[in-house]
Amino acid sequence: MRDDAATQTRPVNLILLGPPGAGKGTQARMLEEGFGLIQLSTGDLLRGAVAAGTEAGLAAKAVMDRGDLVSDEIVLAVLKERLAQPDVAAGIILDGFPRTAGQAAALDDLMAERGQQIDAVISLAVEDEAMVARVAGRYTCASCGEGYHDQFKQPAVAGVCDKCGGTQMKRRPDDNAETVRTRLNAYHADTAPLIDYYAARGTLTEIDAMSDIGEVRAGMAAIVGKLTSA
Ligand code: ADP
Ligand code: ADP
Ligand code: ZN
Repeated sequence: MRDDAATQTRPVNLILLGPPGAGKGTQARMLEEGFGLIQLSTGDLLRGAVAAGTEAGLAAKAVMDRGDLVSDEIVLAVLKERLAQPDVAAGIILDGFPRTAGQAAALDDLMAERGQQIDAVISLAVEDEAMVARVAGRYTCASCGEGYHDQFKQPAVAGVCDKCGGTQMKRRPDDNAETVRTRLNAYHADTAPLIDYYAARGTLTEIDAMSDIGEVRAGMAAIVGKLTSA
């Protein structure tokens, strides 16, 4: 497994596709560390807008709490703002975007304007039923954002973040069994069709994301390692 940012030779732009709980965020953070890429989570950007009380955040909050998709217009606005920052030149991992056909088309335009392309779309294949337990047991470190799970990824010392030593953990209001069902429905209705969209272009790779975090990580690193050294 390649795991060394220093050996990176080429910035690449990736999309991680998968339902809530598939492991997009977990794997994106590992790819950030391993390959020097930048994770762009539209969920995190939207939660940032909600916390900041911006107009976009105010409009998005109720929609997110229900588990429905935020409008393409708002999502694109927060994404474009983030893409204006210079660090994204290192290569990006889109985590949770695009989620609709409209967003995928807008991303094509955005990439063309920037003279860039999406190098690979990695689809995390999982079973819906397992996602309810993954999402319901999810929590993160309030200081550094590291993700944990009640059963599947516990910190070495209970209540203490492995990464930063922080002791305040938080859970998302939408991470409950009921809302997850709505989010899974939204995934199947609006996002899963993107698998075919990218497969038709030959940019899609599917990965079995039902295995444990380390195993999925090794599979991801193999795919991304080939791209960055190409
Ligand atoms: P997503 O970003 O796709 O919604 P996360 O990366 O936040 O998913 O993962 C959801 C939860 O499941 C987290 O608590 C995470 O620690 C855990 N998790 C991630 N990948 C796996 C895996 N392969 N096996 C078991 N649990 C996992
Ligand atoms: P998960 O990691 O469980 O897949 P996210 O953090 O990506 O969840 O998204 C949380 C919520 O934010 C979604 O349920 C949706 O309301 C909103 N959201 C995030 N990204 C998008 C997007 N690309 N399009 C529309 N809504 C989005
Ligand atoms: Zn931390």
